[in-house]
Amino acid sequence: MYDRFKRKINYLRVSVTDRCNLRCTYCMPEKGVDLIKHEDILSFEDIVKVVKTGVELGIDKVRLTGGEPLIRRSIIDLVNMISEIDGIKDLAMTTNGVFLDRYAVPLAKAGLHRVNISLDTLDPEKYKKITRVGIIDSVFNGIEAAKKAGLIPIKINCVIKESPSEPDAQEVAAFCKKNNLQVRFIKEMDLETGVFSRVIGGDGGYCKICNRLRLTANGKIKPCLFSDLEFDVRELGIEKAFRQAIDMKPKSGSENRVNKFSNIGG
Ligand code: SF4
Repeated sequence: MYDRFKRKINYLRVSVTDRCNLRCTYCMPEKGVDLIKHEDILSFEDIVKVVKTGVELGIDKVRLTGGEPLIRRSIIDLVNMISEIDGIKDLAMTTNGVFLDRYAVPLAKAGLHRVNISLDTLDPEKYKKITRVGIIDSVFNGIEAAKKAGLIPIKINCVIKESPSEPDAQEVAAFCKKNNLQVRFIKEMDLETGVFSRVIGGDGGYCKICNRLRLTANGKIKPCLFSDLEFDVRELGIEKAFRQAIDMKPKSGSENRVNKFSNIGG
């Protein structure tokens, strides 16, 4: 599938829930956000139907996101169902890592290829301050478990204010080098005002070559993170929603006043 700007669209990011066990200051307010009603959240069967149609249209890379994907009940079953779809070359997950030590082995057995784990500092107090509730040791245990389970390469998503030369970012980079992890620096973004930049060490935020679509937990296909555009698979039908999303994919991002990071999975 190619869009109007001759970009090959082969990557679908699937938000499986808008719930999260953490309250990161740059993602959601302390009290949390208004959650999607349970009955509006796509079932596993629905998600698989969307992914299958996507694969028929050229998707070969799928990433599971949230909120926090590991708090969705029976997530291992969903990974298994998606990994059985012919045509998926890369099945990855973005997680805050808190529950990864418990799930790494079953995720790998279910067919997950690799993980991205969020880590913005090595300082336990700062980590607690950023996440409001998190205990950093659970993430370190998750990283070790992912290594042992073979969910590699492991990429570390490190959110920065301005530059990778910030002290915490430097420490995370050194930690990644020492532990054979790949670090990616993500500058804080603002959906409403359209403030975003390219991911340092990755290809996110690079509109010129953007290859991605997003599926929200309540069944909207979004052609762009920084756009209000969304196409409802329940209203339009899956294939029509995909085709309209691709046809309408903007040349570059602007503002998104419809979503929150927690319900679109970044
Ligand atoms: S802002 Fe939109 S077009 Fe640009 S990289 Fe992100 S999703 Fe792609």
